[in-house]
Amino acid sequence: MLGLMQNQPLLISGLIVHAERHHGDGEIVSRRVEGDIHRYRWRDVARRARQVANALDGMKLLFSDRVATLAWNGYRHLELYFGVSGSGRVLHTINPRLHPEQIAWIANHAEDQVLCFDLSFLPLVQAVHAKCPGIRQYVALCDADRLPAGSGIPNLVSYEDWIGGQSTEYQWPSFDENSASSMCYTSGTTGNPKAALYSHRSTILHAYAAALPDVMCLSARDAVLPVVPMFHVNAWGIPYSAALTGCKVVFPGGALDGKSVYELIEGEQVTYAAGVPTVWQMLLGHMKPNGLRFSSLKRTVIGGSACPPAMIDAFREDYGVDVLHAWGMTEMSPLGTLCTLKNKHLAQGPEEQMKIRLKQGRAIYGVDMKIVGDNGEELPWDGRTYGDLYVKGPWVVREYFKGEGGDPLVDGWFPTGDVATIDADGYMQITDRSKDVIKSGGEWISSIDIENIAMSHPAVQMAACVGMRHPKWDERPIVAVVRKPGTELTREELLKFYEGKIAKWQVPDDVVFVDAIPLGATGKMLKTRLREQLKDYKLPSA
Ligand code: ADP
Repeated sequence: MLGLMQNQPLLISGLIVHAERHHGDGEIVSRRVEGDIHRYRWRDVARRARQVANALDGMKLLFSDRVATLAWNGYRHLELYFGVSGSGRVLHTINPRLHPEQIAWIANHAEDQVLCFDLSFLPLVQAVHAKCPGIRQYVALCDADRLPAGSGIPNLVSYEDWIGGQSTEYQWPSFDENSASSMCYTSGTTGNPKAALYSHRSTILHAYAAALPDVMCLSARDAVLPVVPMFHVNAWGIPYSAALTGCKVVFPGGALDGKSVYELIEGEQVTYAAGVPTVWQMLLGHMKPNGLRFSSLKRTVIGGSACPPAMIDAFREDYGVDVLHAWGMTEMSPLGTLCTLKNKHLAQGPEEQMKIRLKQGRAIYGVDMKIVGDNGEELPWDGRTYGDLYVKGPWVVREYFKGEGGDPLVDGWFPTGDVATIDADGYMQITDRSKDVIKSGGEWISSIDIENIAMSHPAVQMAACVGMRHPKWDERPIVAVVRKPGTELTREELLKFYEGKIAKWQVPDDVVFVDAIPLGATGKMLKTRLREQLKDYKLPSA
């Protein structure tokens, strides 16, 4: 017997219809690439998303055709999120930090037909358009009078011209909720990038889950600043969850330096912000020397890379801001776990609580996870045993776009490529990417632990730990360190700093001071490149 409730497909258009009807006057504030601040309301997003849909219909774009963006977080990008997916096309957000060759490859692989871009990416589009014959319309996300003349880009129109003449009426189509809605390519540190192809259903379920109290806890009383980019995994789903909950949204555009982000937080009374550690490092780096405080910010979600304990401390102790550590990946839409305490932890002291906050957190309902050993056997949840982390759930990939890379699943589970422990309360902690884990004399050393300790030293700005070949131990860890400007730190001082914090055999063999740690397109440390830079390095003990 089937249930007798209405069978309405879960579609992204439903989110914008809801936002317009139920919190149409909710504010959307954007710092534009021109530098000024733009503000309007959810009802304006809905109206202009309908114009986008009409523009795509006018081009005779078919169901599931791809529309690409190369854009910062801003209101026009938001309109495309709803107009493109809501009308049945697939929004392909491209990471502008990728190499131009890779961008052209991705656009061709995705078979993009329209490319919408912020003017800051004009040179990039000029460099790639000749390599992308399938793109038949270029749309510059700007006013008509700012459209650059003589750019050499064919079929180029300003966004305002593109949608300006379109009707503001549109009947959102209904279709199978499993239809594709958006796509995002993984960074592809090895081989060609592969795309996760999200569906309307996966996106809506993820949007509900992301808003839950023990996840991002979003409400109509919040003002949210997604510093996480809309060009990578849908800014952790915040645009969708915001439409669902009716929070105010504040978009930083391309100004991600500490001063700009701080001014936006204070000026717009942001209560909640989300980003990767490198962005928060810039923010804290600006606030401390200038003696600044937050007057509205209550919590921040930090993920994408391990959050250094020193950062959690600084936010909590110095600024009274709760840090929620999150873990996920492109293939998971992206949220998998979030770290919030349970009731029983509230009676614990700050040190005990800190041990929990450092973990990547508990699985969000909708994601199941397990750790497995070398033979695929499931390992115990004791907080000590580490193994390969596998996940499954309705917003986890089943297969990559066009079947690239074959079947990624193992008995229905997706291997994340991360190595982790899970404790008896279900808190997962990432030890490493499986390719970064350091194997010394048959034992594993966590590069994240070594980096976290270095980062807690007051003279260290950034630290990356990699394994180096060793004739006896296979590999030994060394740590590459960027010193804070104006500080002096010696190798010996830092090595001494490790004493008593980890077992002696886990202490790195050496410290290498560098000017910068290479970062990838999503702001993560690129250890492959660091290893290349250190290829002539010899361990002192080898
Ligand atoms: P890519 O760089 O492949 O595009 P994603 O953005 O999908 O990657 O990143 C996924 C990976 O980032 C995870 O598998 C994990 O290794 C790492 N990661 C994400 N969040 C955290 C976190 N909180 N702590 C440690 N590692 C994290």
